[in-house]
Amino acid sequence: MRASVDPDLCAGHGVCVVTCPGVFALTDDGYSEVTVAEIPADLAGPVRRAAGQCPERAITVDGGPAAAR
Ligand code: SF4
Repeated sequence: MRASVDPDLCAGHGVCVVTCPGVFALTDDGYSEVTVAEIPADLAGPVRRAAGQCPERAITVDGGPAAAR
């Protein structure tokens, strides 16, 4: 399972970082990035939650069940 953040959509709210700090982090520019190439199984739920909570729908989750959007 992989996740990505669309830099054109991310507005830097940081919701994803709060929901799943093990996978998302804010860059020096204040936008989110994915910090791991492959999402560990125990973080799959939080990553999907973060994708569903992103106000800009900037997070894409691949390789697993569709994110709850
Ligand atoms: S919640 Fe969405 S818009 Fe906010 S920082 Fe994360 S990816 Fe960007």
